[in-house]
Amino acid sequence: MHEPIPADAARRVRLVVLDVDGVLTDGGVYLGGSGNGEPVELKRLDITDGLGVKLLVWAGLRVVLVSGRPSVASRLRAAELGVECVEEEGARKLPVVERLLARFGLDWDAVACVSDDLADLPVLRRAGLPVAVANAVPEVRARARWITTRPGGHGAVREFAEELLRARGEWTALVDAYLKERERPEEAPAAAPPRAVRTAAAGRRNDADRDG
Ligand SMILES: [Mg+2]
Repeated sequence: MHEPIPADAARRVRLVVLDVDGVLTDGGVYLGGSGNGEPVELKRLDITDGLGVKLLVWAGLRVVLVSGRPSVASRLRAAELGVECVEEEGARKLPVVERLLARFGLDWDAVACVSDDLADLPVLRRAGLPVAVANAVPEVRARARWITTRPGGHGAVREFAEELLRARGEWTALVDAYLKERERPEEAPAAAPPRAVRTAAAGRRNDADRDG
């Protein structure tokens, strides 16, 4: 049986750092050109990951995409999900995450990092909850406290989001709140995040409103 995420590490998480290539995607990129010769880069993303990210945000967690490969596709996906995307050419991710921690007033214990390749190791080594996707290289898998059964670009982030929220005891309330929001009559005002979720996440949003 696949082991759950350790509850103690899960409950300390305030910031989820997601790699893009190989985690939100299968690592493939389509390179080509538009009709007028402009370079075009396309990535294939898994739509089910999106709701996973949204539920993490509803739970009061910060989610940041950190990529070593600047790409319009990554920025578009982050914008769709309403999360930040930091791109660091050369894949030096450690200073990026250190800046995030300073900005949010967090320490490494509060970081969950989902990774597939060596570029993530400096962050993974320090994160309180290091996670590898199923397709991660051996060095990353060896460092991870938890490994998804799904590969990157095929629901790995959704699987991680659900498991993290289950380990925190928040999954059921979040799904209930999500369904309630979906069943809301058209004329009723939107509530995002719904009251039930704010209540469930109360006390864990200590830094969430400060830097909104
Ligand atoms: Mg990667």
